[in-house]
Amino acid sequence: MIQVDLEEERKEILKRYRRILRQAKPILKEGDAKLIKRAFNVSLEAHKDMRRKSGEPYIYHPLEVALICVEEIGLGTTSIVSALLHDVVEDTDWELEDIDREFGHKVMTIIDGLTKISGVFEYGSSQQAENFRKMLLTLSDDVRVILIKIADRLNNMRTLASMPRHKQLKIASETMYLYAPLAHRLGLYAIKSELEDLYLKYTDTDTYKDIVNKINESKSYRNRFIRSFIQPIEEELNRQGFSFTIKGRPKSVFSIYNKMKKQGIPFEEVYDLFAVRIILDSELESEKADCWQVYSIVTDFYRPNPDRLRDWISTPRSNGYESLHTTVMSNTGQWVEVQIRTSRMDEIAERGYAAHWKYKEKDSSGKGSSGLDDWITQVRSMLESNDGNAIEFMDDFRGNLFHEEVFVFTPKGDLKVLPFGATALDFAFEIHTEVGARCIGAKVNQKLVPINHKLKNGDQVEILTSNKQKPTEDWLNNVMTSRAKAKIKDALREEKKSAILDGKEIIQRKLKQMKMDFNSETVEKLRAFFELKTANEFYYRVGKGIIDPTTIKSFKDFKETQKLKHKAIQEKVKDESTFTKEIKSLKGPDHDQLLIGEDMDVVDYILAKCCNPIPGDDVFGFVTVNEGIKIHRTSCPNALELLSNHGNRVIKARWTSQKEIAFLAGLHIVGTDRVGLINDVTKVISNELKVNMRSITVDSDAGIFEGTIKLYVHSTEHLDKLMKNLSQVEGIIKVSRFD
Ligand code: MN
Repeated sequence: MIQVDLEEERKEILKRYRRILRQAKPILKEGDAKLIKRAFNVSLEAHKDMRRKSGEPYIYHPLEVALICVEEIGLGTTSIVSALLHDVVEDTDWELEDIDREFGHKVMTIIDGLTKISGVFEYGSSQQAENFRKMLLTLSDDVRVILIKIADRLNNMRTLASMPRHKQLKIASETMYLYAPLAHRLGLYAIKSELEDLYLKYTDTDTYKDIVNKINESKSYRNRFIRSFIQPIEEELNRQGFSFTIKGRPKSVFSIYNKMKKQGIPFEEVYDLFAVRIILDSELESEKADCWQVYSIVTDFYRPNPDRLRDWISTPRSNGYESLHTTVMSNTGQWVEVQIRTSRMDEIAERGYAAHWKYKEKDSSGKGSSGLDDWITQVRSMLESNDGNAIEFMDDFRGNLFHEEVFVFTPKGDLKVLPFGATALDFAFEIHTEVGARCIGAKVNQKLVPINHKLKNGDQVEILTSNKQKPTEDWLNNVMTSRAKAKIKDALREEKKSAILDGKEIIQRKLKQMKMDFNSETVEKLRAFFELKTANEFYYRVGKGIIDPTTIKSFKDFKETQKLKHKAIQEKVKDESTFTKEIKSLKGPDHDQLLIGEDMDVVDYILAKCCNPIPGDDVFGFVTVNEGIKIHRTSCPNALELLSNHGNRVIKARWTSQKEIAFLAGLHIVGTDRVGLINDVTKVISNELKVNMRSITVDSDAGIFEGTIKLYVHSTEHLDKLMKNLSQVEGIIKVSRFD
């Protein structure tokens, strides 16, 4: 039996409520306090008989969430009211209409958004993923939904101790999976760190406690160290008349844990356990100059590591973070990270979006990054363009949350911010969907690179395009932004749709020629004949030319008896003499060799992968033990062995008349690199000869250009002509075929 002192509880409730009002006071407008009071009373009444798992009155929770909103995120009255009421609709008789009537439309829509994403998000649960997507949709209308949701989650994490173990694990992992990266992306660094720390506390309690103990044990040593480290800096800053504060802050438990894990080192060897932060009171106009002045002072005393200078003042991160970071060598031989920023920047860094937004409103000059606004616009367009499934979307979206950024430039010098690891192709899609879809490569800092080239900070990127280019499946492996992924998927879907339509038309035409009806029964038989799962799959293959339309004829001739014959020949053909006998009986006495491209209906054969023969090549057939007849080039590396040791299994084969079948061939190109070379090469391939390119990879090193092209050609003649034309491109030294 838990003893409950109701009087004590009532006092505590009022105390917490007053704290909210006190914190909100500077931002309250007329009537706001009344509104908050009304929301408090409604919530208090609605939850009056409810208790949390810990035994505490339920009202503590909405009160704490509201307090986090105002105190730690910097939100205003609407959010406080919404936070106080956030569980009322879900847990009590109150309906959304009641909220609308009593507190207005804005509060109602926010609570509606919050209610939609209630419950626990389970990875792999499409319903929850869909709910999450809905929540993100409201982001474009009102980012406060997400901010309050994060506050809600933070309070739940802080009170996780009273939950049963399995729920702790579930809630903690979900927090790590989703809410911590979301908080990070919204610039709520303090909350993000706390969520991560709490995650560690509940999932790996021993490690967590161990690190916390060690941080505490080393505290007095650290404080002494920091005091002596900052002493000369402080004196100089005072001498030069700066108004400032200096803090020496240990890093979060989770980030220390991460360092230990990543580098495989014990706590004692993590050198940057803390950072020194210098916060200046600066006028907006002189912020940047002041910060660099302080940088100059710091590096007068301590030598900086040139690789560890981060200037997020000139180029703020897309979540609004601004700061100047340097790592310097202390007198004791220890590296120390020094963060230099103004109090405005510090507030943005700690409290994120709301602070950022506040300053932005105040400042009409437009100073301060609009990266977050861009991000919200991007999320909105992503949600609108994505009609794929919700879980896939979640993965894409989450992938984008986690990554740090790279800053790259267009040829004209415009800055683009992409997630770390983004490729030239991501950049192309960032510029424009069409540019992405037509991208064949890029020039990064004047050097040619393939589409999957990873971009680095400061790269200047020019995208090369070709009208013949089309997105393919494997492009999805070459991009990491959800924008590019969504656009490629759109294009593939479109392409598939149009191939299906093409295929359907071809089949209708073919059947008409053969005086057969185009109806579902025939289509079903065709589908079965080609052993495909769906009619659309069949149309698609015809449309793409994977199924040669002329082979439809063989469907007409297709009868059970022939099927038997076909089977019989497969079984009987063991060597050259039986083959010749069979083929004569089937196709007439003049027939003694395999006609590639025609005899498909009577004999099973495949083109050998070891040498990829194409029409025009000298070839022979080889009867294999299990895989039917294989066609090899006479120049195949395996030919000698096959011809000499198994002569009785070799059959004559030749190509039939020129068919419009495309074969995959590979070319190797070497040349001297010059501007526009790759463009000229692809021009020859796609424009002049109407050849389809499957892939092109290009390497350029010290002025030497090396490329590998895979393309579809119709014959050796065709390929020879292409190689000749390619070798005439200025700068190309050698063109050779490879298998
Ligand atoms: Mn809640």
